[in-house]
Order: sequence, then structure tokens, then C-alpha cells
Amino acid sequence: MPRIAKVIVDLSLDKEFDYLVPPELESVLQTGSPVVVPFGHRDAKGFIVGFADSSEHENLKPVKAASGKKDLVDARVLNLARWMSDYYLAPLENCVRTVLPGAVRKKPSGFKELLHVEPTEKAGDEDEIRKLRMRAPKQASAIDALRLQKGITLQKLAQTIGVTTAVIRGLEKKGFVKIQRAIVARDPFVHDEVVPSKPHELMPQQTEAMDVVRQAVETGEPPVILLFGVTGSGKTEIYLQSIELVRSKGKGCIVLVPEIALTPQTVDRFRSRFGDCVAILHSELSQGERHDEWHRVHEGKADIVIGPRSAVFAPVKNLGLIVVDEEHEHSYKQEETPRYNARDVAVMRGHLEKCPVILGSATPSMESLWNAKRGKYRMVKMPARVDHQKMPVMHIVDMREEMGREGKLNVLSRDLCDAIHERMRAREQVMLLLNRRGFASSLVCPKCGEVATCPHCSLPMTYHRTTQRLVCHLCGCQQVAPSACPNKECRDPNFKYSGMGTQRVEDVLAKIFPKASIFRMDSDSMTAKDSYRRVLNEFRAHKIDILVGTQMIAKGLHFPNVTLVGVINADIGLHLADFRAGERTFQLLTQVAGRAGRGDVVGQVIVQTFTPFHPAIQAARRLDYDGFFDQEIEFRKELNYPPCSHLVAIHLRGVVEELVKMTGEAFMKKLTPLLAPDVLAAGPSPSPIEKINNEFRYQLDLRAARTADMTRPLREALKNFTWPEDVKWIVDVDAVSMM
Ligand code: ADP
Ligand code: ZN
Repeated sequence: MPRIAKVIVDLSLDKEFDYLVPPELESVLQTGSPVVVPFGHRDAKGFIVGFADSSEHENLKPVKAASGKKDLVDARVLNLARWMSDYYLAPLENCVRTVLPGAVRKKPSGFKELLHVEPTEKAGDEDEIRKLRMRAPKQASAIDALRLQKGITLQKLAQTIGVTTAVIRGLEKKGFVKIQRAIVARDPFVHDEVVPSKPHELMPQQTEAMDVVRQAVETGEPPVILLFGVTGSGKTEIYLQSIELVRSKGKGCIVLVPEIALTPQTVDRFRSRFGDCVAILHSELSQGERHDEWHRVHEGKADIVIGPRSAVFAPVKNLGLIVVDEEHEHSYKQEETPRYNARDVAVMRGHLEKCPVILGSATPSMESLWNAKRGKYRMVKMPARVDHQKMPVMHIVDMREEMGREGKLNVLSRDLCDAIHERMRAREQVMLLLNRRGFASSLVCPKCGEVATCPHCSLPMTYHRTTQRLVCHLCGCQQVAPSACPNKECRDPNFKYSGMGTQRVEDVLAKIFPKASIFRMDSDSMTAKDSYRRVLNEFRAHKIDILVGTQMIAKGLHFPNVTLVGVINADIGLHLADFRAGERTFQLLTQVAGRAGRGDVVGQVIVQTFTPFHPAIQAARRLDYDGFFDQEIEFRKELNYPPCSHLVAIHLRGVVEELVKMTGEAFMKKLTPLLAPDVLAAGPSPSPIEKINNEFRYQLDLRAARTADMTRPLREALKNFTWPEDVKWIVDVDAVSMM
């Protein structure tokens, strides 16, 4: 019986095609092999994604050739792509593309070869140099530069001293230097020297954690460890020693970190322990850099990979461990097809490759905690900080009271303002955090700071730009947005959507603290590739007194001189539309609390909120994780929300609202009869953000204990449904964003 190869063709086609395996290629082709196949009237490149014994089609054509020497896709990584395609209801081609970055697939650049300049012996001869200095001072300064920076490229050297490359070519003729072609690995952090570090002697709680890891590495049990340790409890040290253990067995590791935490500081901790065996796969690397790093891993030159979510597909041979740091982070979820969650893919990859997975967090997700409580994961707790520092004191400021007392809403409450003054006097540093989800959509008067507030709930109302209305998401009350500031004393006509952005906070701070050096860090001010790093370095060097930023500054950064962290707006009331609002707030506050007081001064955290008695805020204040979990899980159970179920969201959007809605209804009609009775289906209903870019948005939500009970009928329904051209749809399995 002939073997049949299933091939996806690199022409963005969402389909597998069957081809015969010719006898001469029988021994060559494997799953993952790149091939050339006849396609229509021409040849096309593709990948083998699997084999079969028979085909539904007749007159199959044979595979023309195996292309390329190496198999770029590891069969196991390919299996992962298949699983993703099935689980997340995403086209296989899409998933294969995801596991194999474009930079590698297309191979546009190859390795970068550059001309390097090396000094010869003559360059060390002081007499010769002296003579040179007289006759050709520019050439002499080239040699000076060369002494400072060995292995510099021709271009760079010429640039450094401001001469043409011909000047340096002249040096070569005189025998002072050699110019050679060499491959450079475009290592993004190559210029940083790292000081080698040795493993710390473990503290008791770390020893216990390490014991579990060792058992997992040696026996495969438990397959997944949830390392629940407060900030500063020594989790990273556990990762490092686990990696060491795994490498001593000749195996490699993947460490996932949230995009935002992939700072040189993080990477250096791994490089200082493992040196050049560490590869970084980061979306901010240039295509060339990514190509080089990927191949370093593929060829086994680097066996530790650090990167954000896509690094979960790194071609590490003989994988021995996957670490997912900050496993609760939502940035592990990709918000485009395939909409995978790297944490869950990591657990799956671990399962497929029989290697243990460590999920680490100071604030684990409800999903992972739930899995731990049900025995699917093993939980290891590290409740104490390595430095025995007390957790900082959290002080809640009720902004409703504040507003009543001051008659207007100030960006900074009096308490926060006083505290900053005090820290400035003591020459300490302050971080101010703006929860972008909070005020961003409320109406604030740019002149007096008045906020459009619900007459019933004294909560800022949400401004809906499309309808020009203010809506209270607590009581549902609506009103037309006023054309001028409602404050009788003010009546400013510019009262319109302005939000309390980081910009405004910065402006206010500059007025109150004219002597302080203030820096604002948000996605607007952080565009250049390494400015994030530059700012953090300046902050560490205390060139900045007050750092203002969004969530971005709350993550895993260590600044011993920061003794006060202020949260400008912790509010959650505005986001009841999202059932994870409480969890997010709790996590954010707990993370932030871990930022203050890492030195010898106990830290202080001041949280401004309109909902001071919300359980999430109260639990965060008491640092009571168990209390929060117990209460939150009851709510999730009652309403059948994740983690007590899986949630699949189907988003529809289009310019004509009626059409979007009707299409949603028609699709639901098709889908409902296919669903088992225990699958909850809701919608279509308008999405919390009803309109984006002139497109109306509706969604259908499905909830059930098993994902397959939803995706299987969905696949069926999608097959038999014709979508109007003007309505676009997305299926989001295990949706994280409900907006
Ligand atoms: P986490 O990752 O949980 O925030 P880290 O691993 O970064 O914690 O540890 C916090 C600090 O304590 C780091 O500076 C680290 O080098 C140090 N540290 C960790 N474990 C030990 C130990 N056993 N002995 C001494 N110092 C340690
Ligand atoms: Zn209200």
C-alpha cells in the first residue's frame, strides 16, 4: 500500500493536501520535512504534517523533492501544532507557522557575515605606533580604538573614530591589522559583561521546593508543579538550580517570561549562571537576531531558551524542563490566531515530551490554583521572603471621601501627596502606578478634575463614545454626557473624554514636586528598542526620583531604594463586565506590594480607590490569598465561570449592526441543536466594548466542563454555515479578554 504524505503548502492555505510518497524518498521524508510538491501548474514549498495509508482523493501526485538538508520542524513540536489546531480551532497551517517563526521559515537573511578587524603583532609595537602617530594620526587612533574594543567590525571601527573604511584598509596594507570575514551571532545583549554567579545555599522552603523538582525530573511525577512563592521568596533561584539539575542530565530547558519582564536584568541572572548556553527569543529582536538565536538552539549550541510566549515552541533538543514564570500573566495568551495560551501549551508540551513543567507566581491564576487544589498540579508554597523582609504596609485611601472633602477629584490624594513629600525629603524613590483599565474611560474635567459620577453610586461613570452617553456599570443608570463641566464653579466647556492618563499624572506631579526628577513610562513614551532598559537603569542609578507608569512597571523589578508605591486608581467597579476584574485587581495590588521596600527600609503602599470595601481590595490589603481564592471560587462556581468551566467566546463584528446581530442569531440557531445539554450557551449580545473602528461587536459565549464538548459542535456548525461577507468572526477558546 502506498504511503500518503499530508502536506501543507506555504501559500497561506488552510488545508492539508495529500501526496504520494515516491519510493526513492520513502526513507527521507518524515513529519516536519520541508518538501517541494506540484501545485496547480507550478511547484510549491510546503511541510509534511503527517502520513496516512489512504486518501479520499484519487490521482494523487507524488512529492517532487525533499527540500533543504535539515528538518526544521521537530516532529514533537509539530504534534504540538496539531494539538493547538485542534484545541483552539485554528487552521493547522497557521499553527505550523506559529511554531516555526517566519525569520527561520523563509530564510531571507541567513547568517550575517561581517568584516572584522583584528590587530596584528605589529600593532603592539610601541615604536611602530609612535611613528604611525606622527605620520598618520587617524590610523593611530584606529589602533587605540581597537585596543579598547576587540573584535570590532570594520564599519563600526570606522564609525567610532569618524574615518572611512579606506583608512583602515590602509592600516591593513601597513601590516597593523587583519581584516577578516566572520560570522557574527547577532546577540542582542552581547555587549554586557555579566559577573558569574554561584548557586545560593537554599533556605528551608527552597529546599522543599527543590526536592519536589528533583523528584519530578527523576521520575516524571508530579508532571506540573505550581510554585506559589511571594515576591522575593527565591523562585528564580529555584528555576536556576532546576535548570542546572536538568542540564547535568544532558537536557535542555525553556523559560517563559512575560514579554514585559524580558529585561536584561532578568536575562543576566540566567547568563551569569549559564553563560553562552542561554539563547533569547524575543519578538523585539531583529529578524537576523532571531534567525541566529533560533539556529543556535536548533543546532544545540544553546540549550537554555528564555523568551515570551512564542519561546514555548523553541526547538530545544531533548527538552528536560519548562518554566513558566508569572504564570498568571495574561500576555501569555495570544490575541490573534492561533489564540493559544503559552502556559497551557507549555503544560501540553511537557506532557508530550514527558518533561516536568514549573509554573511560578506570587499571584497564581485561579485556573492554576484550581488545578492544584484538584490534584492535577502539585502546589509548593514559599511564603517567606529570602531577606526576611516584612511585606509592606498597604494603606487604602477612599477616594469618595477624598472627593467629598476636597470638593473635586485630585489625581493625588492628600495621603499620597504627603507620603511622596516625605520620601523625597528622605532621598528615597517612588513608583506610581496607573491602572489603565480604571479611569481611562471616564469623563474628567481637565481644568478642575471633576469626574462624571453616577448620582446613585458615587462611582465614575463609563463614557461610551459611540452613543455619547455615560453609563454606570454598577446600577445601569445612563445619561447624556454633559457638554460642560458639571462643577458649578468651573463649567469648563472642555469637559470631554480625557481620561486620567499617565501624561496627566506626570503633569500634576511636576507641579507639586518641581524639584523632583520625574519620568513617565508607558507605551507612548517607550518606543525605541532599548529605552525601557535605559530608563530602568537610570531609575536604578537614582537619576529618576519618581517613576510613573502603567502595569508595565509593576512586574518583577528590583529597586532597593523604592520605599513607596502609589496606586493612583485601583478601581474595578467599572469593569464588572469582565468576571476576572476582581482577580486582576487582587493580583495587581499584590504584585505592586512586592515592589516596595526591598532594601533595609520597610516599604509603604498607598492605594487610591472608589471601592475600598471590595473583597479583592480588602484581601489584597490583608495579603490574604486563601481568603480571596475561597470567596472568588464560590462566585465562579455559582455562575459556572472558569476555572469551574471552560469558556469559548465567539466574537462577531461588522459595520452594519443589524446584520451582525442577525448573523449571530442564525449561527446560534445552527449551533444549539448540536450542543449537549450541559453546555451553557449565551448570546448573541453586544460586547462590553460595543463598537471599535466603526464596527459593531457581538459575542456568543459557551461554557462547559470540557472544551471538546464545545469545539467539536462548533467545528461542525462552522462547516455548514455561510458567513455574510461583511461579518467577521473569531473563535476564542479559553478566552482571557472578555471585552
Ligand atoms: P523571586 O524570584 O521569588 O522574586 P529571587 O529568586 O529573585 O525571588 O530571590 C530574591 C533575592 O534573594 C535575589 O537577590 C536572590 O539572589 C536572593 N536569593 C535567593 N535565594 C537565596 C538564598 N538561598 N540565599 C541567599 N540569597 C538568595
Ligand atoms: Zn450607578
